[in-house]
Amino acid sequence: MNELLRQLTEATGVSGAEKEVRLLIRDLIADHVDEWSVDTMGNLLATRRGTGESDLRVMVDAHMDEVGLLVVEIEGNGMLKFVTVGGFDDRALLGKVVQVGPQKVTGVIGARAVHLLKSNEYSKVVKRDAMRIDIGAKNKDAAAGKVKVGDYAAFVTPYEESSAPGGRTAIGKAFDNRAGCAALIELLRGERYPFDLVAAFTVQEEVGLRGAEVAAYRVRPDAALVLECTPAFDLPNEKDVSPNVALGQGPSIYVMDARTMQDPRLVAHLTRTADAHAIPYQIRQPGGGGTNTGAIQRAAAGIPVATIAVPGRYAHTPTLMISLDDYDNVVRLADAALRGLTADIVRR
Ligand SMILES: [Zn+2]
Repeated sequence: MNELLRQLTEATGVSGAEKEVRLLIRDLIADHVDEWSVDTMGNLLATRRGTGESDLRVMVDAHMDEVGLLVVEIEGNGMLKFVTVGGFDDRALLGKVVQVGPQKVTGVIGARAVHLLKSNEYSKVVKRDAMRIDIGAKNKDAAAGKVKVGDYAAFVTPYEESSAPGGRTAIGKAFDNRAGCAALIELLRGERYPFDLVAAFTVQEEVGLRGAEVAAYRVRPDAALVLECTPAFDLPNEKDVSPNVALGQGPSIYVMDARTMQDPRLVAHLTRTADAHAIPYQIRQPGGGGTNTGAIQRAAAGIPVATIAVPGRYAHTPTLMISLDDYDNVVRLADAALRGLTADIVRR
């Protein structure tokens, strides 16, 4: 079992409340970095000094926050009304187990049981306004003794691995973006790079790329790499013949998304590196979405940046699936691309 992925995905860190996962990552990297600090927003910035062969300064970003919920009201019957933190599909919420607040009070996202639905309600999607978090409290006072308005709620999904004929997969929550965090931790534990590497484990990506903007401004690297988990949609589908990326076909390299044109010199460097090392890869088809690349690229006076992502099915739900081969290949590609990164690739 990949212990790094298990520990990271089972930790909580909804956007704005990343403390638990930040402390975990700090402990996982402390022996492998030369210095680390936490900035005002909560970004964890760690430097692993290089061998001195290159005077480049390179930042690798992985956002550590995850999507989740926020309690906005405790109702008279003890039920918790919530809003979502980050983008969600209402269909993914019903029946999921959550942990609420610092005391990690267990609850379930509930709505009227199927037995009580009218026939015309069967075919309708239950909207999140009709759902509540139920912690089993008998009334408002009982609930208020355990949770309060403003508490975050995170999903509870145990990490699992399975091996099917198609390959090794992992199932769990928050692969977006604990898969990127795990990959970055592996890079920090490897051989030193020719240049100083600044690892930025950033906050609040899911609510607008907020942590990375501040981190990039502080670090001001000569180049940056973003490690992510990108939605894969490769299920059987009658109409859609163009899945953006598929599980098991390698790291996905971004070219364009709703926020960014990736730096073409770095994109070319990534595909060249993958070819040279016989690492499979796929180009993420242009479309919606955005990564921290959008914030980093436009920080300070502009920073060359590109994104490598682990494809993940069911992104922004409580349960995702990734290919462990894709994950391993993201680590290999990021490592090889960094080792081959020279000043002439990114300086004008
Ligand atoms: Zn993400």
